[in-house]
Amino acid sequence: MSPSFLSRLARTSLCGVLALAPLAAPASAAPINDKFKSTVASFVSEHIDDWVAVYKDFHTHPELGLQETRSAGIIAAELRTLGFEVTEGIGQTGVVGILRNGKGPLVMVRADMDALPLQEKTGLDYASTVQTDWRGENTYVMHACGHDAHMAIFLATAQTLVDMKKDWKGTLMFVAQPAEEGGGGASKMMADDIFGKFGVPDYGFALHVGPSAYDTVQIVKGQMNSFAGGFDIVFNGIGGHGSRPSTTIDPVMMASKFVVDLQSVVSREKPEQEFGVISVGAIQAGSAGNIIPDTARVRGTVRWYKPAVGEKLLAGVKRTAEAIVAMAGAPDAEISVRSGGTAVFNDPDLSEKTLAAMSKVLPADKVYFAAPTTGSEDYGEFLKAFSNSVYFRVGVYDPALFDETGAPLDVLKVPGNHSPFFAPVPAPTIETGVTAMTTAVVNVMAK
Ligand SMILES: [Zn+2]
Ligand SMILES: [Zn+2]
Repeated sequence: MSPSFLSRLARTSLCGVLALAPLAAPASAAPINDKFKSTVASFVSEHIDDWVAVYKDFHTHPELGLQETRSAGIIAAELRTLGFEVTEGIGQTGVVGILRNGKGPLVMVRADMDALPLQEKTGLDYASTVQTDWRGENTYVMHACGHDAHMAIFLATAQTLVDMKKDWKGTLMFVAQPAEEGGGGASKMMADDIFGKFGVPDYGFALHVGPSAYDTVQIVKGQMNSFAGGFDIVFNGIGGHGSRPSTTIDPVMMASKFVVDLQSVVSREKPEQEFGVISVGAIQAGSAGNIIPDTARVRGTVRWYKPAVGEKLLAGVKRTAEAIVAMAGAPDAEISVRSGGTAVFNDPDLSEKTLAAMSKVLPADKVYFAAPTTGSEDYGEFLKAFSNSVYFRVGVYDPALFDETGAPLDVLKVPGNHSPFFAPVPAPTIETGVTAMTTAVVNVMAK
């Protein structure tokens, strides 16, 4: 994308904002101006060292999903110190902080708290060496998805907003969510009736950090990521000696065929112009080279943008498994195919409005509309209750590592989320995140 294209986008979006009808609680004046920009910039530079220390502390002490008691405790204490009414234990380890500041909209800001079960290899002096129990096994733990940065930015944003209280009105709902990485944390908070207890937000904002330049913010207008489903299939065979396969029904053969044939569902059945992916991430069978085992287990993930594509892919997974069982003359398989995670949709008007505001505070050519990603994110569970929300992305690496289109010059130098080498540059990442999030919030709450 050329710089001129970026600035054209920014201009277009600004025009879009001027034409927008007011939403739930309209700002009475243009809130995001040079004064706001300089106030935020000086507050951020005054406090960035503290926030980096908070980030490094979270990074050194990662916790897996639904085990985030230390992180939740720090967040609850910090929010209380800032004057929020804090409720803990929403969705098991989740935290909700409410701050009332006059009549105005209810605005949710959400961060996730959980880390991942892998061993950190960054070599940083604040790297994690934590190990814990995970599903009955010991594992290393690392903040490899950047949720430590999300928590630091979340607390820094709360502090900045409290300092700027005279510039906005309404109620803040700061939500620290557990177990985003597959543990159903958002669903658990919804099951605990978060919005029944604290109100349905008029606006919602969340962010995710990732492997792009740390001075950039990307917003996707509309659907920003994929729906997620998965499968867990146990092929049942008849075990026996590896030298006499005719006396067995070999589940390893069935699993192998299944893994290969699945890809013809993607290449032959999915509409060519639509996005859809099926990936097998785990195969387990057998214990020795000369034993044909009696079971083989295959687990995988399915991602799509359009619901009809998801239905087709999931049906294809099930049909392929059943056909392989029939082909082998095997006993019935245990077939579990599920459609789980919902996609995140950004409200198009609020996306325009938020991008225009951020473009006044951050370099305009560094804040731009981007294409959807193929990942998933359970923030979408919250959007079953309201839709006026924007979830944006913030980069974490030195801009010198990217070309003018934002593409990495060497992909090996910019490890992505879930890599054991994922290593955001703390200060500039947090600066961009706090500035962008504070701008997004004040933009809809200005006096
Ligand atoms: Zn992740
Ligand atoms: Zn994540």
